[in-house]
Amino acid sequence: MKTIALIGDGIAAQAFLFTYYQERLHKDFELTQFYAPDRAPAVTESSTAIVALRGVELGVSELGDKIFQSYVDFKNFVSHAKPQGVELIKHSTCWATDFENDQKYSKRFPNFEVRGQTKYYEEEAFLIYPTQLSASLKKPFTHRRQEALVKNLQWQDNQWQVQTHDIEKFDYVLVCAGAYSPWLLNDERTQKTKPAQGSFLVWKLDKKLSSFALSFEEINVIYREKTQELILGSTTMDNGYSFIPEINKLQKLYQKYADHFQPDFLPAFEAAKIITGLRHKGPKRLPYWGAAPIGPQAYQIDSFYKNGWSFAFSAALGIVKILKTLDV
Ligand SMILES: Cc1cc2nc3c(=O)[nH]c(=O)nc-3n(C[C@H](O)[C@H](O)[C@H](O)COP(=O)(O)OP(=O)(O)OC[C@H]3O[C@@H](n4cnc5c(N)ncnc54)[C@H](O)[C@@H]3O)c2cc1C
Repeated sequence: MKTIALIGDGIAAQAFLFTYYQERLHKDFELTQFYAPDRAPAVTESSTAIVALRGVELGVSELGDKIFQSYVDFKNFVSHAKPQGVELIKHSTCWATDFENDQKYSKRFPNFEVRGQTKYYEEEAFLIYPTQLSASLKKPFTHRRQEALVKNLQWQDNQWQVQTHDIEKFDYVLVCAGAYSPWLLNDERTQKTKPAQGSFLVWKLDKKLSSFALSFEEINVIYREKTQELILGSTTMDNGYSFIPEINKLQKLYQKYADHFQPDFLPAFEAAKIITGLRHKGPKRLPYWGAAPIGPQAYQIDSFYKNGWSFAFSAALGIVKILKTLDV
């Protein structure tokens, strides 16, 4: 039996593993999963986690096509697997009638509706509870899990040496390291990718609201009914591996939303918990899955940037298809 080392425990790794077990590849490979929550926290647990098309259509750009296809793949996953932690909702893209980008938005989101000083465009979307969906995906897992930071990967004597505090040898490696990929992998493509920090505010709010998600211009506001969490964000900053949030930007987003809608349910800014995670931005914001150019028998899934929850399910199908063609 061939051995495989999987590095990562975010949605990229979890969606891959779910598909791997569904396709019964665990009968062909012996898999060990490495992950390092203390040294390399998964952004998957610090994500606003909405899957929506936001007006994206097929045939306009390479990125748009990937977003569209991954939306379809995510929807198929939900309808077949019926996982916990996913709710079908209506997502509103909305903007002020005097917004400077009104013309651009009105063109991109046709059939909008005007209510007072705001234009609304509604579409189907999925609201995700990250912890519940992760637990649902992990149910079939029986492989070995090793909590350890992988410091180096080296191809030697036809095997991959995975270096932690120890050295273990594997036939194949699959790296799902998100924003930490350029730290671990030295190839030219991965070195062009970078971490991009994002932060948002969260309040516990017991107001008997139903789940909702809206994007008001650059602001996202989400309510997760089951966990009674109100979320408002998010910031975006290309800044290496910093977890220090941009508080001034968060304050501005909060104030702009409060001034426009004056919602009676919005708690004080100071009462919010601030969550920060590291997205991973690839060239042209494109995701990547396929061979890893670090050597033979190596694969990679990363650069999900702002669409990780759907890209992960397309990537899983892509990598499982490759593994099925291997002579093991
Ligand atoms: C504020 C914010 C809001 C977002 N909102 C959305 C949204 O609404 N919709 C959406 O689709 N996406 C959203 N995203 C993006 C989405 O969360 C990510 O694209 C996705 O979670 C990335 O998953 P991943 O598995 O690639 O990376 P991660 O979740 O970061 O996982 C990487 C894993 O690799 C492990 N690892 C890395 N290096 C090593 C190493 N050397 N040794 C051992 N283990 C290692 C880590 O421990 C971790 O388990 C948002 C992100 C942020 C920050």
